Amino acid sequence: MKVPLLDLQAQYASIRDELRLAVDRVFETQQFVMGPEVAALETEVAAYCQTKEAIACASGSDALLLSLMALNVSAGDEVITTPFSFFATGSAIARLGARPVFVDIDPFTYNLNVDQIDAAITSRTRVVLPVHLYGQCADVDQILALCKSKNLMVVEDAAQAIGAEDRGRRAGSMGIAGCFSFYPSKNLGAAGDAGIITSSDPDFSARVRRLRVHGGLTEYQHIEVGINSRIDAIQAVVLRTKLPHLDGWSNARAQKAQNYSHLLEGAKLSFKLDPPFIKPDSRHIFHQYVVRVPEHRDALMEHLKARDVATKIYYPIPLHLQECFAYLGYKAGEFPEAEKAARETFALPLYPELTAEQQEYVVQAIQDFKP
Ligand SMILES: *Cc1c(COP(=O)(O)O)cnc(C)c1O
Repeated sequence: MKVPLLDLQAQYASIRDELRLAVDRVFETQQFVMGPEVAALETEVAAYCQTKEAIACASGSDALLLSLMALNVSAGDEVITTPFSFFATGSAIARLGARPVFVDIDPFTYNLNVDQIDAAITSRTRVVLPVHLYGQCADVDQILALCKSKNLMVVEDAAQAIGAEDRGRRAGSMGIAGCFSFYPSKNLGAAGDAGIITSSDPDFSARVRRLRVHGGLTEYQHIEVGINSRIDAIQAVVLRTKLPHLDGWSNARAQKAQNYSHLLEGAKLSFKLDPPFIKPDSRHIFHQYVVRVPEHRDALMEHLKARDVATKIYYPIPLHLQECFAYLGYKAGEFPEAEKAARETFALPLYPELTAEQQEYVVQAIQDFKP
């Protein structure tokens, strides 16, 4: 048996006819960039995320960049975020000349440790940027309360968390902005790069809309310098076709995650392996199923590879130790939980079409590992 990390072909096979009809629709109109399909996508995603508006753009990375631009984040400013995330979380801050200020993570959820944020706030802090890692919301309530008292904005990096909930509120609806990625491997994936920003603040939304198209109020009237982060109509129709399936897919992921944890609990392992921690009162959409193996992680991954079980480390090098951020002056050992997670965790295959037989095969292969 072969178990890939993700099987997009299986998903495509289940919606092939719908998708092809949708893409044909775009070719018939020959309107390839922006337009009514993009506007319809924005309305549908805003409703799904429980926000007043959504502004589609070229990628999740641009969603972060545009959000910070719309909040005037610039040279000299500081943005507090996690060192344990995809690179774009940190680079959006650095690209604007602002300083990423990292705070360590909680060892159970792998999200920002909210108890350490206060100490990182200075007179230059403008924004706190939590990431809802692997599809589970960070502790947004505490972050919002802290930021309100200090007059700071909260931008959610919800790239991995569309549809995730914290006490009934959707990811992307809690801060001033939610930044989503539709990279093909995300829970809702386009046929290429795409992203969206959600917000219920009309002034912020209007500014993002403008910055997305070169800062233009109209086509040839520029009141500020923005970027080109338009989105293709083909991406919009692909995403509109997939959106009605999203809850079914995310629920299937969560059900399979529960099955993994159940199987792993029943397995007789000769080494320590921690399944993911699920916060009470939340909806985890399991973009990734990440386990922690304090010892022998790399050997276990090699063993699984030999059994044709794909695995991956998210993320092997924390952001504060990336070469490009050396100028920030962080050192190894500064964020012990992020560094430990980088050393001890990895993702098992998880996608809606993963079968019970495949899951049993994966857990049997784990059980057969004798360090
Ligand atoms: C995928 C991702 C992004 C960036 O999205 P792109 O669409 O690839 O630019 C940002 N942050 C996180 C946490 C992500 O997982």
